[in-house]
This record gives sequence, structure tokens and C-alpha cells, in this order.
Amino acid sequence: MTIDLRSDTVTKPTKGMLNTMMQAQVGDDVYKEDPTVNALEERIADMFGKEKALFFPTGSMANQAAIKLHTNPGDQVICDKYAHIYNYEGGGASFNSGVSCKLIDGNRGMFSVNQVLDAINPPDFYHSPLTSLVAIENTTNKGGGACWDFNEILKIKGVCDEQKLGFHLDGARIWNALVAKNETPKQYGEVFDTISVCLSKGLGCPIGSVLIGDEAIMSNAIRIRKIFGGGMRQVGYLAAAGLYALDNNMERLKEDHKKAKEIGEELKKLPVVKTVESIETNIVIFELNEGIDETAFVKQLADKNVHIIGMGGGKLRMVTHLDYSNEMHKTVLNIFKAK
Ligand SMILES: *Cc1c(COP(=O)(O)O)cnc(C)c1O
Repeated sequence: MTIDLRSDTVTKPTKGMLNTMMQAQVGDDVYKEDPTVNALEERIADMFGKEKALFFPTGSMANQAAIKLHTNPGDQVICDKYAHIYNYEGGGASFNSGVSCKLIDGNRGMFSVNQVLDAINPPDFYHSPLTSLVAIENTTNKGGGACWDFNEILKIKGVCDEQKLGFHLDGARIWNALVAKNETPKQYGEVFDTISVCLSKGLGCPIGSVLIGDEAIMSNAIRIRKIFGGGMRQVGYLAAAGLYALDNNMERLKEDHKKAKEIGEELKKLPVVKTVESIETNIVIFELNEGIDETAFVKQLADKNVHIIGMGGGKLRMVTHLDYSNEMHKTVLNIFKAK
């Protein structure tokens, strides 16, 4: 039994999901004639109370399209130093949109409205790049699945309105935040101009992300997606997985969160573990004591068929997910108990 806790992207479609996919009605989505894609887009737009949604092959492409929609070359995007759009999208912000990122030194990938105010370049000072977009991430990936305080988001929204800045949410794991904090998609739809959500993380789809926004900004999104090479044809087979996941895999995220907390409790007891970051959703980030070899620790677990991942800077990560069964969980807890 291989236990893969490197990421929640490693899940494989269940029988139920595959059956739904096989039975999907499809058409050419480049002509917007795929009924299943259209249904998924309508459903997600409605969930968030927005006018439009567009299916993308990856979260990176959805985020990059959003950056393109909000900016002109030379502009600047405000985001956290941990942001996925800055660290893990191949430098796409500069490649695709010709923008720079003003990085905020936040806390676990989150920052305050005052930090945003400090990061905005005065629009009449033509020497500095024009600030045009604020992007936040919820839950934060590199921040260990931490959830934003919604009140802080509202305050930042106030500043974006005042200063006419776009406000984008990288909601790859927004589902985890909604479940953990008892929040609603509509809350987020009211605040953000654009939201990207992933179907291939906690929700267990093999592929797929969706970008959500109102008509005015989204009318150009389909062109940007085409330019990025993301116009897909009979892709309803994949959208069907998304519809299935929304029906079946949302509530169960609670189980992933519970398991992550239980892993954290055991890790805290290990003498080699220095700190475990506070666990709010399905991501566990921890650090080993000085002098303990990270690679050896990862290998010891791998020898027992438990796979975790190093994040750099002495941090290790474990992520719980749909394919991490109760039986696997017992095995992992026992391995730590025996250490
Ligand atoms: C996974 C993830 C994405 C999208 O990644 P893809 O691999 O391109 O689908 C975007 N933002 C965050 C925070 C993520 O965790």
C-alpha cells in the first residue's frame, strides 16, 4: 500500500466519477457547444453569484488569464511573497502579461490592509510601475492551508475600490476554506472581480480549473484562454468530473481536515520535530530540529511507503486528500507513534 501525502493533486478519479465522465454529453467547446462544459460553467458562476465562468485546463492558466485581464504591460501586481502566481507559475506574470509583482512580507501567505496600502505606488508618480491588481490566495498553499480572516479581505476590497485596483482571488483551495470556516461562495463572489477555483485538488478531479467573474471582464477571458492555448474541444468528459465532484466531494473535505489535524498532533510529539504550523485545513507543514537530516527523514518514511515532500527552507509538507483512506491514516499515525 503506497501512501502518497505529497499533495492533494495525486488523487485518481473514483468509479462513480469515471462513470459520470463516460456518459457525458459533449460538443465542440471552442464553439461553446459542449453542454457539459456549459452546465459546469453556469453552475459555478451561480454558486459564486457571478455572471460568467470559464473552464480552464489548469489553475495556473486561469490565474495567468486573470492577471492578463486586469493589467497592461509594465503594471504591478500586489501579492504575498508566498503567492503561487509568483512562485509556482513559471514566471508567467512577467512572461504573459509583462508585469512585475510587488511582494508583501505577509504571515503564512496572508497580509493586512495596511500592508496593501504601503505597497500601492501613487498613480501620479510616473517613475514607478502602475499598481493595477491585488491578488490573494485562500487557502494559502505555501502558507500551509491557512485561511484568511474574511474581515481583512473586506478591508482590502475597500482599498481596491477606492484606488480602482482589480481584486483577484487564487481560490485553488477555496473549497477547503469554505468548509473549514463555514463561509459561502457568494460571500467571495461579492468581493472579488475574478476568482479561480481548482477542481483537481481536494475535489478529486483529474484536471480542471474555472475562472469566475462578471460579464465586463470575462467577455475577453475566452480570447485570452485561446491565446494561451487553452481552447479545448470535446472537453465535457472532464467538465463532467467537475459536476460530479461538486455533488459528491465537497462535504467530505472535513474528513481531510480532521486527518490533517490528527497527523499534526502525532508529529508534535516526535522529538525530532521542532514545530508544526497551525493546521486549519488539509495541509500540514512542519520543521525538524536543527541537525536532523530532512532528506533522511523523508527517506525513512518512503521506505515505509509513506511519501511526503520537502518545501525548501527546512520545511516538510503532508497533504491529506480523497485517496488517503482511513486505513492509510491509521498506518501513518502508528508509524509516528512508534518513532
Ligand atoms: C495548485 C494551485 C494552483 C494551480 O495549479 P495548477 O497545477 O496549474 O492547476 C494555483 N494556485 C494555488 C494556490 C495552488 O495551490
